[in-house]
Amino acid sequence: MSNATHRAPTIGWGAMTDSAKMDRRGADEAPSHHVEESFVTPPQQAQYDVVILGAGSGGYAAALRGAELGLSVALIEADKLGGTCLHRGCIPTKALLHSAEVADTTRESEQFGVRATFEGIDINAVNSYKDGVVARLHKGLQGLVAARKVDLITGHGRLVGPDAVEVNGQRVTGRHIVLATGSYARSLPGLDIGGRVMTSDQALTLDWIPSKVIVLGGGVIGVEFASVWRSFGAEVTVIEALPHLVPNEDEALSKALERAFRKRGINFSVGVRFAGVERSDSGVVVSLEDGKTFEAEVLLVAVGRGPTTADLGYEEQGLTLDRGFVLTDERLHTGVENIYAVGDIVPGLQLAHRGFGQGIFVAEEIAGLNPAPIVESGIPRVTYCEPEVASVGITEAEARETYGDDGVEVVEYNLGGNGKSQILKTTGFVKLVRVKDGPIVGVHMLGARMGEQIGEGQLIVNWEAYPEDVASLIHAHPTQSESLGEAALALAGKPLHSHN
Ligand SMILES: Cc1cc2nc3c(=O)[nH]c(=O)nc-3n(C[C@H](O)[C@H](O)[C@H](O)COP(=O)(O)OP(=O)(O)OC[C@H]3O[C@@H](n4cnc5c(N)ncnc54)[C@H](O)[C@@H]3O)c2cc1C
Repeated sequence: MSNATHRAPTIGWGAMTDSAKMDRRGADEAPSHHVEESFVTPPQQAQYDVVILGAGSGGYAAALRGAELGLSVALIEADKLGGTCLHRGCIPTKALLHSAEVADTTRESEQFGVRATFEGIDINAVNSYKDGVVARLHKGLQGLVAARKVDLITGHGRLVGPDAVEVNGQRVTGRHIVLATGSYARSLPGLDIGGRVMTSDQALTLDWIPSKVIVLGGGVIGVEFASVWRSFGAEVTVIEALPHLVPNEDEALSKALERAFRKRGINFSVGVRFAGVERSDSGVVVSLEDGKTFEAEVLLVAVGRGPTTADLGYEEQGLTLDRGFVLTDERLHTGVENIYAVGDIVPGLQLAHRGFGQGIFVAEEIAGLNPAPIVESGIPRVTYCEPEVASVGITEAEARETYGDDGVEVVEYNLGGNGKSQILKTTGFVKLVRVKDGPIVGVHMLGARMGEQIGEGQLIVNWEAYPEDVASLIHAHPTQSESLGEAALALAGKPLHSHN
């Protein structure tokens, strides 16, 4: 597996402010200005303040914020408004993960004194639930775009000048251009996608549940699918070339996830590269470089996502690309005229909320508001497998590298002491990394539902809070948020429900 290490950086799903708003709106409450399709072809005007290519998380956030600031905006999209996250990423996978949680809860109901019988998964019903969630959010988003008077142009666009995109044979010009063409599921050289070898795109539309699956790649997308399929009753093996699952996380989280997966009966092989796959009508046989082989009905290839930037005129207009990614400065400017880039095409975390943040940033930059640059390490990361993995800031290893061994203090608070986690029967921990006599620079958590705690984690890290600050704030009892408070109390030298 020559470039397994080129996998996309950690992907998680954090505070999705805009979508949360859309979720509340939903189909039933769609605003009165809602139009079924808000597509505009041809463009309404010759020249816009901003022309945005790609209407995924990054592109539509830039459009909505730009319009809010009084800019005229054209948003060009070849496929569906909402992009990967809404249609093939965050939202559908999290719906599947929720069905998986319901299945597990039903199976384990007796532990809570509730008699229920788990009769199985109706995958068609799961898919309609998932598709319903996506459709409602899509409709809400169409309403938002129409309400802000953004011109949504359907068609495949191409950058044809420093101020122009060509779409449907027409030139749409803007004083500013924002490139937001997103990413696609990558494979490995010689590993063709098709039939029983699939990426997340096909896996999300499967109308049957494989009994045996191999997941190639133990990053975020890989472990999330492994988690879903295991809960749906499949035998699952994850193959990861690096030494750990979720290898971009703090090692303590990776190791704890591996223990939890072992307990759930999810098999995995780490530290050995993929060598090849043989396919037959009934399944696949995957071999590793150490000669081991694994058989399954399906192989999911989850080795990262590549930037969608080929043949779009980017290089011709003088943009600098690195392995397909568009290079920008910290203000997301490409160095060419008034062209900016946001989202997955810009090197870094490939996360929807990073796209939202960058889209908003660029719109404000264009409007002259001089926003503060986004700090990449302050972006929260959540992996929604069971148990959940959530983090923000830097790992213990990175902190030791930056501040030296004597310059760092670490505390791990075990969820065994957290009432709500006991009630949920989940295990895990919160790990805080602080600079000695300084702020908390890393929050790392594992446990059922612990992704929900990342909101506080990101405030702690981004506001450079000291453990003493957090310790003085009272956390509601019994909540899982108390585990963050308890970890801070311990780090501030006054542990409460803590044995360490
Ligand atoms: C399975 C999966 C699960 C994920 N889960 C999460 C999660 O839980 N949380 C999270 O934060 N992130 C998650 N992600 C990542 C998230 O989806 C991406 O980070 C996010 O969608 C990136 O936004 P973007 O705007 O850069 O690109 P995209 O969302 O990919 O949007 C780009 C848009 O541009 C359009 N486009 C491309 N080229 C052209 C062209 N030439 N002309 C016109 N239109 C064009 C595309 O059709 C697309 O709609 C997940 C991804 C996957 C695949």
